[in-house]
Amino acid sequence: MANAEPLDAVVIGAGFAGLYMVYRLREDGFSVHGFERGDGVGGTWYWNRYPGARCDSEIMYYSFSFLSELEQEWPLTERYPGQPDILRYLEEVASRLDLRKDFTFGAEVTAAEYDEAAHLWTVRTAQGHVATARYVVTAVGCLSAANFPEFPGAERFQGLSLHTGNWPREPVDFTGKRVAVIGTGASGIQAIPVIAEQAAHLTVFQRTAQFTIPAENGPLDQDFVALWKQNYPEWRRRARHSLAGFPYTASVTYALEVSAAERRAAFEAAWGAGGFTFLSGTFRDLVMTEEANATAADFVRSKIDEIVRDPAVADMLKPRGFPIGTKRLPLDTNYYETFNRPNVSLVDLKQTPVTGLTATGITTSAGHHEVDVIVYATGFDALTGPLEGLGIRGRDGQTLKDVWAEGPRTYLGVAVPGFPNLFTITGPGSPSVLSNMPVSIEQHVEWIGDCLSWLRAEGAEVIEATEQATTAWTAHVQDVASHTLHPKAATWYMGANIPGKPRVFLPYIGGVGPYRDHCAKVAANGYEGFTTTGDQEGDDGARPGDHRAA
Ligand code: NAP
Repeated sequence: MANAEPLDAVVIGAGFAGLYMVYRLREDGFSVHGFERGDGVGGTWYWNRYPGARCDSEIMYYSFSFLSELEQEWPLTERYPGQPDILRYLEEVASRLDLRKDFTFGAEVTAAEYDEAAHLWTVRTAQGHVATARYVVTAVGCLSAANFPEFPGAERFQGLSLHTGNWPREPVDFTGKRVAVIGTGASGIQAIPVIAEQAAHLTVFQRTAQFTIPAENGPLDQDFVALWKQNYPEWRRRARHSLAGFPYTASVTYALEVSAAERRAAFEAAWGAGGFTFLSGTFRDLVMTEEANATAADFVRSKIDEIVRDPAVADMLKPRGFPIGTKRLPLDTNYYETFNRPNVSLVDLKQTPVTGLTATGITTSAGHHEVDVIVYATGFDALTGPLEGLGIRGRDGQTLKDVWAEGPRTYLGVAVPGFPNLFTITGPGSPSVLSNMPVSIEQHVEWIGDCLSWLRAEGAEVIEATEQATTAWTAHVQDVASHTLHPKAATWYMGANIPGKPRVFLPYIGGVGPYRDHCAKVAANGYEGFTTTGDQEGDDGARPGDHRAA
């Protein structure tokens, strides 16, 4: 497409965020068009089709809250929705809201340039589409730029190479194959048990052993589902005002206030129940103090000893050297149990690093592993990667990479000074990946939608975060994180998984509810921390006194 008249907005991405943003702006009477690099809707759930891909948020609240009919009709069968279920859900949303007509699919945005004189963005795709628009809203997800480590000789490998985050649309059959999985984060931990059931042999290449908690997935009791559906508005309200977008209450007990036996009983109960409540529902201080944290970490290590029969393998699987919960806690189905299978072996890359790839497999300092398939479960350039990859140029042609050389600077995770009229849904500096994503996405979409309606009502056409408000917010993001154990660990939350990436805490850990209240206050105070510019001809400077930073 190439539009004759500038659009009000271009939205980039057609996952949860892009679908809702386009719908919301369309409903509010804005002209809006979406570009999506995939051939269909789904975002994360379009790309992550690896075996075992499943959401770690329970199905009851991993959905939109604004579709009350669909909410009642959509079947809730399993505790955690699998990737095909979520993709079907988003396809159903797109159909019901007739959203596909407002998107161009197979269109990868590679440039978005701001024209300061015209106050317009020009967006271009690799496939040759061009669109001009007043506003650009990125809805590209936080974990959508795949990280492919550069192993020497990788191009020589003659077998099949796959990345979990960029999986082919057709299912991959591992039957009879010798498979390598590199990486043991949430993706690897989900894929490994499923691949092990199919493959002739699976070799897991582990650099850092991960703590993981049983998901305890299974069919949902339909009486429970009926009760949940009756109370949907209340569950949604609780999620919005919680710390992480989950509708459950966090524990108020400190780990060291109770006896060792009581602690063990609490951990056992949470382990048996499965899910994230292992951290948030047991004790309030597990990610706050090292002493409390060690109690949970010791418990998980003791479980590994119970489950894994070979003591040497159990020892290799035990995470050490970082606090539990500072790497995103994966939920698993039979992960540790998988290492009892005769067709699974584990390679500890800390002891024997990869030295290179050959035509037939992977060489470590201890020898060569012949494989037919290499699955890279090596994660993502999180939060900043997807945004920097869009080729965004703001005032004076500066790129996000230029202005984020020391780490991302954002106002509320939703705006960047020097990039007027650009909004970043679940951007760095917002709760995003520390939360149940649909809750945070809805909050951002609604806040951005309200902001654009307000600008229209005010007759303003340019909005931009101030340097002052951005500096204060960016410092606040780091300050809140500094009261947790997170800065002590080399994780993707800290940018540590990508060589050369600045080490700062990327999301906002102040909590979904408090963050929401803060954003609402910013809006209620006339979008404090932003400047706005009117649409009079020749007026390209902020008017004194207009919606200035407090
Ligand atoms: P990840 O957590 O970053 O894990 C990547 C794994 O690859 C780590 O074990 C890492 O080791 C390893 N690795 C990276 N580079 C390597 C190299 N050069 N050599 C050897 N190993 C290397 O990525 P992910 O598992 O894809 O998960 C990312 C995030 O996506 C999750 O934390 C979660 O937020 C989200 N996710 C969610 C779900 C869900 O809801 N069910 C499922 C999957 C993913 P190190 O630890 O040593 O860096």
